[in-house]
Amino acid sequence: MPFSTTIAGSLPKPAWLAEPERIFPSWRLEGPELAEAQRDATRIAVGEQLRAGIDTVTDGEQARKHFVHGFAERLSGIDATKRQKRGIRDDRYEAVCPTVTGEVRRTSPIHVEEMRFARTLTDGPLKITIPGPMTLVDTVCDETYGNRAELALAFAHAIREEIAELIQVGVDVVQLDEPAFNMYFDEVAAWGIDAIDTALGAASCTTAVHVCYGYGIPANVQWKGNLGDRWDQYAHVLPLLAKSRADQISIELAGSHVPPDVLALAGDKIVAVGVIDVASDRVETPDDVRATIELARRYLDEDRIVCSTNCGMAPMNRDIAYAKLRSLAEGALLASVGL
Ligand code: ZN
Repeated sequence: MPFSTTIAGSLPKPAWLAEPERIFPSWRLEGPELAEAQRDATRIAVGEQLRAGIDTVTDGEQARKHFVHGFAERLSGIDATKRQKRGIRDDRYEAVCPTVTGEVRRTSPIHVEEMRFARTLTDGPLKITIPGPMTLVDTVCDETYGNRAELALAFAHAIREEIAELIQVGVDVVQLDEPAFNMYFDEVAAWGIDAIDTALGAASCTTAVHVCYGYGIPANVQWKGNLGDRWDQYAHVLPLLAKSRADQISIELAGSHVPPDVLALAGDKIVAVGVIDVASDRVETPDDVRATIELARRYLDEDRIVCSTNCGMAPMNRDIAYAKLRSLAEGALLASVGL
């Protein structure tokens, strides 16, 4: 069996849908026209993944302005109109975030209709990405709970209800995105994993947790530049995630200073290994991708490796992102020779 391929989640949006190459773009349209354009963009995102040869596809997050806000703002108890600036990801950068003004509850479906539509576009495996509880906590202004663990648990219950409906519309893989795990190690141990397990419950689909060094935006690139030659964040996080309910752990490896030996700390999990760098516009050759997969194979058996992107591609140039998808699929095939 060749190595399976997927992407972390997001893809760039077409310029007719939203401002290109922005982490938080404005939509170009509104109302029913916006909804139609989002569906068209989803057709393209799914189609391009399939054309590139990606096995497990996402909707490219074409109907969400931002991977966290798109979920948070549809919850009861979150006031999306009351937006405040705060430092996020341990003050790595400032973001304008919605405010928690009441009890957080899921009172209606969030990404279910988007996935129902995406399901019509492929018979193959379909993945949805949802922000994890800690990352949600880290991307809102809390004026209600006053306790990050309690707020995380409220988010976890909302996610769990959403997952149940996503499975009903035919989603095969649910991935919780937890970039916040890469900096709050004490909280990951104290309540982060419990929140993940509460969110995943006994989900009958494949489940994954994505922990990364973020989009290739300048604040992240600068932060990475100060992390030294051996990024040991995963050495803290992977042993904790190894004990979680998740089936898969999605991490970045390509073009990074992540020491590949940390992969040995992933317990018995499947690891979606990032073999495409989203912080560089250089398109990896298939041989580059093959070499990164070979690196992962030193520490993981072949049947525990899925080939993925390091992180979401939302802020990237569209042509570059799609070229990287093709290299991802071709490199995974190269690495599969002889399996
Ligand atoms: Zn990421």
